[in-house]
Amino acid sequence: MATEKGALIVLSGPSGTGKSTVIRALLQLRDDIRFSISATTRQPRAGETDGVEYYFLTHAQFAAMLDRGEFLEHAEYVGNYYGTPAGPVEQQLAAGYNVLLDIEVQGASQVMACRPDAVTVFLIPPSFEELERRLRARATDNEPAIQGRLAKAREEYGRAHEYDHIVVNDLAESAARELDAIITAELSRRERRYHYILEALEGDKTL
Ligand code: ADP
Ligand code: 5GP
Repeated sequence: MATEKGALIVLSGPSGTGKSTVIRALLQLRDDIRFSISATTRQPRAGETDGVEYYFLTHAQFAAMLDRGEFLEHAEYVGNYYGTPAGPVEQQLAAGYNVLLDIEVQGASQVMACRPDAVTVFLIPPSFEELERRLRARATDNEPAIQGRLAKAREEYGRAHEYDHIVVNDLAESAARELDAIITAELSRRERRYHYILEALEGDKTL
């Protein structure tokens, strides 16, 4: 029987919505997911480690990867560059893992164009007021950066209609469970499983 290829899952949502928090909870619930570690030119935040949350690159290193065509997608976001290294994604999918990308809307739209089978989820906070509270609570941005991220959030809501699913991150555990359920349901799609039917019919000696 053929090995099932993993699903490519794209998670987007405004900065501060809780994507990293929900992903951490999701990874506790499932062991068949691999998080795609992006490359970025932004500075590490306190507690972030190179090669864990991101590969922290210089502009020259990022540009070299781009020139070599090593990104599945890439985008500029509030003054920094972000990109998904394509190699590891393809390797994990081929090995049967579901690969999760935490990427912003421009990059997600590039993935939707080249990988129409990707499962796309837009994660939102319960309200913009709560988003602002979370950005301040995270205490990683100064006031102009917080205002920039809030303006960006409103812009990003205008792209939410491009996604298959919308999940509200009220309680992180509940949002992670909803994401878990979405992934389980998506894995049983006819397009992904129809090979079982064809294989059974081909091997059926009673016909
Ligand atoms: P993102 O990855 O989307 O930028 P983070 O996961 O860093 O967001 O979360 C932003 C802030 O909001 C963090 O301080 C985090 O602890 C908090 N947070 C995340 N999810 C929730 C939630 N469901 N309820 C309350 N606070 C949350
Ligand atoms: P942050 O700086 O808060 O970690 O991330 C800022 C934004 O960049 C988030 O919306 C996050 O989803 C997005 N992002 C992270 N990695 C990538 C990537 O590889 N490609 C794209 N297009 N966006 C990314």
